[in-house]
Amino acid sequence: MTRYLITSAIPYVNGVKHLGNLVGSLLPADVHARFRRQTGAEVLFICATDEHGTPTELSAAAAGQDVGAFCAQQHAIQADIYRRFGLSFDHFGRSSSPQNHALTQHFYRRLDAAGLIEERDVEQVWSPADNRFLPDRYILGTCPHCRYEAARGDQCDGCGALLDPPELLTPRSAISAAAI
Ligand SMILES: [Zn+2]
Repeated sequence: MTRYLITSAIPYVNGVKHLGNLVGSLLPADVHARFRRQTGAEVLFICATDEHGTPTELSAAAAGQDVGAFCAQQHAIQADIYRRFGLSFDHFGRSSSPQNHALTQHFYRRLDAAGLIEERDVEQVWSPADNRFLPDRYILGTCPHCRYEAARGDQCDGCGALLDPPELLTPRSAISAAAI
């Protein structure tokens, strides 16, 4: 019997998802899982909330919660939504699970042992007003191509151009709106 491991891009834990999220990422995997099960294949359909990264940290701060409590609450909300929409996950977990940490570290150590990991210097934007480095998507400004005023440091939603933060005109912090 053929076995299938099926998943989709995992949703960020922050923010309740809308129908576009369901249709664009979760539903195609669900349809595929249902189809494979109907043809008699053995299917494991898994997904999870992505609880790592700056968006989670900033959303928790905005909600006045620590990251752990925020993620636990938001995960429960999302898992309930997907259950009520009838998505057929065999398991809907969390990227913060001990199993996922162990698996991620396993892959890292294998790559490191094979000499495939190297150290590099990267430049990041420092925001004095926020007293922190900002990831590209937390820098807003005017797009140099179409003049859209709320372009992000990684992409312009006005014209679709991929950007680097230094290209933005009048860059500002997405957190505090302070000029950078
Ligand atoms: Zn643009």
